[in-house]
Amino acid sequence: MLAIPASLLTLILINGSFALVALTLGFVAGWWIFSKRGNSQDDVQHIRLCNERSLMAAGQIQDLTARVVQDVGAHSSKVERLSVELNEMSLESVPSNTQAVSIAIAKILGANQTLQGQLANAEQKLEEQAREIENHQTAARTDSLTGLNNRRAFDDEMKRRFSEWQRMNKVFSLALLDIDHFKKFNDTHGHQAGDEVLRYVGKALGHSTRSMDIACRYGGEEFAIILPNTATNDAKRAVERIRKTVETMTVAFEGKLLKVTISAGLAEIMPPDTPALLVRRADDSLYASKNAGRNCGHFHDGMQCIPITPGQKAFKPAEKISLPEIKVLDDVTDQKTFEAEVNRRVAESHRYHVTLSIMIVVVRDYATILEKYGQLAADFLLDTVAQFLIPTIRKMDMISRRADDRFAIMLPGSTLEEASLIERRIESSLSKCSIPIGQEKIPCAVSIGLAEIEPHQATEELIEAAEQKALIDEEAIATV
Ligand code: GH3
Ligand code: MG
Ligand code: MG
Repeated sequence: MLAIPASLLTLILINGSFALVALTLGFVAGWWIFSKRGNSQDDVQHIRLCNERSLMAAGQIQDLTARVVQDVGAHSSKVERLSVELNEMSLESVPSNTQAVSIAIAKILGANQTLQGQLANAEQKLEEQAREIENHQTAARTDSLTGLNNRRAFDDEMKRRFSEWQRMNKVFSLALLDIDHFKKFNDTHGHQAGDEVLRYVGKALGHSTRSMDIACRYGGEEFAIILPNTATNDAKRAVERIRKTVETMTVAFEGKLLKVTISAGLAEIMPPDTPALLVRRADDSLYASKNAGRNCGHFHDGMQCIPITPGQKAFKPAEKISLPEIKVLDDVTDQKTFEAEVNRRVAESHRYHVTLSIMIVVVRDYATILEKYGQLAADFLLDTVAQFLIPTIRKMDMISRRADDRFAIMLPGSTLEEASLIERRIESSLSKCSIPIGQEKIPCAVSIGLAEIEPHQATEELIEAAEQKALIDEEAIATV
């Protein structure tokens, strides 16, 4: 019997290993694709929506896997054939068939080399495709404006941390942050300036958090930070650090230096929390910060919202009150349009000597109602005042919400005297009005300031003059 040389056996073994590696590679790639489809159906669907290219890449990997499996199959049959040939040689007891054995070895070597090349090529292609898919998946989890994690990544991370807490008791905290008065900011400075601020706040979050913290854009002008392995005390310090960073930050935009503040709400995971309940508690704390006057933070201890920022008063939850719907407040002209219109009228007034007056109406109990009953009640009070103001002014006049507690009204063609008549009309109708909030009847008391344009006076100076008069009126009423 012909003894098969040891080197030949080694070669057959090598050949077998290659087939095994190739099959494993094909199997792993196949499993990877199908697991993405089966176990994380949502993931694949999101990738499809975000970028069809990821799916094309996945398809290419499947083709590649099929090709490798085919190549390995062909290679195995070839080796099997050669092995049979060699065995037959031994059975026929051919005394010396060295030449036939050498040919067989050469063929196996050749086949192995080809397969090796194909495998290396396949491996490289698999790596490229996997990288491409990973890039698309990263893009699908990133907020394009701020570069932070998006809401989808936040939801996944919350699930992960929550299950870690349940299984291993690993504590974590959640902070929600919301830019203060951002609607007004956009109205005043424009949406692009708003976007720039969002980018800056995103960067500030990135800089002022630890690498293990997960900073996300939670929604429009709201951000969330998941703080792993962090209990309330450390989380409070982190939230204050971020709040102060934003408070001191200046955003340069089109020659202007802009500033914003944020309010924060914090909660540490504790029984009987679910992810939704934890978000709810952090959100209640954020609401408490808004009610406490903004640019501050509160945390939820499981029972109530407690101030983080030094000097803040503890928040008493608003009395449960039912309020009628806001009717006209949202319809008053925004600040930017108002100022543009006043500018136009001021220029007209200087050119054609047509007079123009500005009236500032301050709702006196706004701050008290806000503190006692919350934002909705304060807005309702303002809405009631607006409902009186709107029918009192003429069509050519214009009303806008100048600040939280006040309106600005432009009265084109009206002298100070004529404007005073309107002022008295407003005061007389509002003096009879009060609104029921909780157990109280809140009077719709206002302070009014008037200013008539002076030669060469600029828009801001005119409005400022009316503001000053309103302040004097307010102080005079307060001392009575
Ligand atoms: P508060 O202090 O109570 O949070 O008041 P706010 O005005 O910030 O809150 P509100 O929810 O009334 O308004 C949020 C504003 O955020 C409205 C919207 O114009 C603005 N905003 C949301 N997303 C974006 C965005 O992507 N870019 C810009 N520029 N503004 C946005
Ligand atoms: Mg908001
Ligand atoms: Mg906001």
